[in-house]
This record gives sequence, C-alpha cells and structure tokens, in this order.
Amino acid sequence: MEAIPLTDEMTIRNTDALLVVDVQNDFCPGGALAVPGGDEVVAPINRVMPLFALVAATQDWHPRDHVSFAERGGPWPVHCVAGTPGAELHPGLNGSEIDLFVRKATEPEVEAYSGFGGTNLAEQLRARGVRRIFVAGLATDYCVKQTALDATAAGFEVVVLTDAVRAVNVSPGDDQRALDEMAAAGVRMATTADLRPPSATPASGNQGGGGVRTEAHSRGREEQLKWQM
Ligand SMILES: [Zn+2]
Repeated sequence: MEAIPLTDEMTIRNTDALLVVDVQNDFCPGGALAVPGGDEVVAPINRVMPLFALVAATQDWHPRDHVSFAERGGPWPVHCVAGTPGAELHPGLNGSEIDLFVRKATEPEVEAYSGFGGTNLAEQLRARGVRRIFVAGLATDYCVKQTALDATAAGFEVVVLTDAVRAVNVSPGDDQRALDEMAAAGVRMATTADLRPPSATPASGNQGGGGVRTEAHSRGREEQLKWQM
C-alpha cells in the first residue's frame, strides 16, 4: 500500500469534482420518500462546495407513471415527479455553487439509481478533466451507492463523504452494508472534515481559514470559466 498521509491525499485538486446526489425535497423529512435525517447532509455539502472547481448535482426526475412506483408494482411511493416541488433540490442547498445539473430515471420503463445510468455524466466529467469524484447526498444504500460503484467502474477515483450521506435503511444495517460494498469495490471513505483546500498544506502552517477558502473558491471559478470557453 502507498503510504500517502490522508491529509495530503485529501487536499482538493483541480481534477476533483464534488457530486451531490439527489438532495431533493422528496428525499428529505416531509417528502414523499423521506430519508431519515436526509436534510442533515445540506450543511456539510454547503460547507465543502467552495473547495471544488466543479460541483455536479443529480436529481431523480421521474415521469408520473414511472416503473419504480408502487402503483406500477415498483418498490417506492410516487416521488420526484418531474417538475413538481418534491423533485426540486432542497432549498437550503447553495445552488449558486452547482455548475452541472444531471437528471436521471426520466424514462417511464427504466429505473436508474445511479447518476451515470442513462446520462452523459461520465463524458461531461471527463471533458472537464475530472479524475476523482467526491460523492455526497441521498441515499447511501441506493443512489449514492450505485453512483459511487458506477463512477468506479467508469475509471474515476471515488471518495464517499460519510458525514454528508444518509441511508433509507429499509432493513437495519443497510447503510453499513452499502458502505462495505462500496469499499470492496475500491471506493474510499472520508469525512468533510478531512478535506483540505487546494492551496493549504499542513507544512505551510495555514489552518485552512476563511481566506484560503475564498482563494480556493475564486480559483475554482476561474477554472470553470476556462472550461466553458
Ligand atoms: Zn426514484
């Protein structure tokens, strides 16, 4: 095993992206398919978004007669119907930090837990030079898991931010089983507290305060502009 200290490894690079999975009203308390504590991912996600040059967000975006709905014999209640308030991103999420929106499971007959399922997300990330993806959002045991597994299969390095995900836990322990399955596939685990701004290293004596964060953010925007040109 390489002996790269976690602190160095978790310094954010300009080839990293943050992928925010399905932080939508229907998956938060009060929603049609609420994940316990689902809204608790909003604060840690907002906190780390400025560290990343690229932030992508997926949305479950179903037609009204989607095959995953109970009325069609699927496992879930009607949720995240395209264009409804339940399908909107949680209002607490800092949408101005999101550079790329991806909608999935938009076909009536096709389920897609993964943000890579039936979308061009992998191509879009590759086109922007992304090599490593940090995954956060909902839910650990379904869309986060499948997104992380697909990202790994697509050749990206993948890190799941364990304090910024929450699980459905249809059966107790589903969350841990999902994390184990991801780890077995090569997905790394970290917390948002492990992440370091691009320009801050332990050796510099900089503790990652607000100034560094701002610098990282503005550099990220410059990079984003470059990508768009
Ligand atoms: Zn769905």
